[in-house]
Amino acid sequence: MLRTALNSSDDFSFTYELVPGQGCCGKKVERLLDFARAVKADGRIKALSVTDNPGGNAALAPAAIGTELLRLNIEPLIHFSLKDKNRSQIVSHIYLYQRLGLRSLLVMGGDFPRPGYCGQARPVFDLDSIQTLQLMREMESGQQPGCILSHELPQLRLFKGCVVSPFKATEAEQVWQFANLLRKVRAGADFIVSQLGFDLRKLEELMTLLRREHVRLPVLANVFIPSLATARAMAAGKVPGVLLPPELLKQIEREEATGDKQARLDRAAAMIVRCKRGGCRGVHLGGSGLRFEEVSYMLDRFEQWDKEAAPSLPPCDFPLHKTWYFYQDKAGRSGEAVPLTPGSKRGLVKLRSLSHHLLFQQQLTSRLFGRICLFCAQGSRRAAALTQVERCIKRLLFNCRMCGDCTLSSSAFLCPQAGCPKRLTNGPCGGSHLGFCEVHPERRCFWVRVYERLDQQTALQHLAALPHLPPKDWALEHSSFWISFFTKQQRGK
Ligand code: SF4
Repeated sequence: MLRTALNSSDDFSFTYELVPGQGCCGKKVERLLDFARAVKADGRIKALSVTDNPGGNAALAPAAIGTELLRLNIEPLIHFSLKDKNRSQIVSHIYLYQRLGLRSLLVMGGDFPRPGYCGQARPVFDLDSIQTLQLMREMESGQQPGCILSHELPQLRLFKGCVVSPFKATEAEQVWQFANLLRKVRAGADFIVSQLGFDLRKLEELMTLLRREHVRLPVLANVFIPSLATARAMAAGKVPGVLLPPELLKQIEREEATGDKQARLDRAAAMIVRCKRGGCRGVHLGGSGLRFEEVSYMLDRFEQWDKEAAPSLPPCDFPLHKTWYFYQDKAGRSGEAVPLTPGSKRGLVKLRSLSHHLLFQQQLTSRLFGRICLFCAQGSRRAAALTQVERCIKRLLFNCRMCGDCTLSSSAFLCPQAGCPKRLTNGPCGGSHLGFCEVHPERRCFWVRVYERLDQQTALQHLAALPHLPPKDWALEHSSFWISFFTKQQRGK
């Protein structure tokens, strides 16, 4: 069982990522199942993960391969991505997976949907991974989502994984990743899988952070073996959230030119040794079209080097030039956390938070404003007029989309509905590249812009302690937030 293995400090576990493509049968599916049979026969890999519409492209649903793996007596780790599911689909998939015996789930937002049948697929992202982990924990305790009837439903048993990218190149991206990791842990994650990367100091920073924050969850480091084509796409920033340093690309090009097929496997085996000695409880392996023989060779190499106290490992650490580090370098170990520099572009934030305070928090002025809103709410025409006023003012100031469930005060008075293509309200996705948006690479990530508007004293712990906002209530779409805020207040909600 993956849960037992990852929670035992004596074990060092391997999982491997299977990537189903389009179609429900044929050569590609048979190749995946042949690979799985070889994994079963070999016995060193604890679980096979199955991706969920990888890269945002439609593909065979993970449950199909997942149930085949169960038949082969291999534990599946199902990627549970949120890009295509609304909250009802999320709940029904959790029940489906539970019924099928697919209990290990890796929760992630997922890459933005790509064009599909007759054009661009609709991005959903109805819940983010923090909210989904919270929902799963409630369902595990027998609660029926959105209902207070808790004793009627059987308790679920899930093994919930979350993802983090420790390899971000800029301060804003990295601090948000670490803060959201601590929030995912608080929301109920059982284990952590890192994004793939090649800078071992960054991975060491993740392990240091978890130690210093007293987080004892097992970590699977992501060790990926790219082909030359994949490495080039990664180096060009075409794979969301992945940074491949130019030095490593040159190395892979040299190996390709000389026909040295083993070098990349040796490099991965060396990286596994470093991950194990860095405190990871295992590695999550993946690669572009690897044959099982190559994976087996890599595991053999790892086992050989792992026995040696000081193995002479091939180069496997490729830091990105000018990358930002969370900790000072202390003789190759993580020293003190470097001072953070949020709030470099505060702009009008102070003025906006003052007006927010006066309208919604300060007793005298908010009571007056509240009375006006409640008075307007009593008549449809007055309510429509006030909604129009709210729309015009907020559109002008915040490019507001009138979602009716306003979270401006939680994102430095920038509107996530307008500024983030995934409409994330609890911090960024993992897809940003050098501070720029995964979906609109010409724009900086919305949450990087939020970071630049935070209070200059903001520390990681502040962001990690932020209460996570509940999912947006779509029933409020296009309605007046002013009216619903004071109506709820009046009802004591
Ligand atoms: S704005 Fe940032 S958080 Fe939103 S989709 Fe783009 S990269 Fe992700």
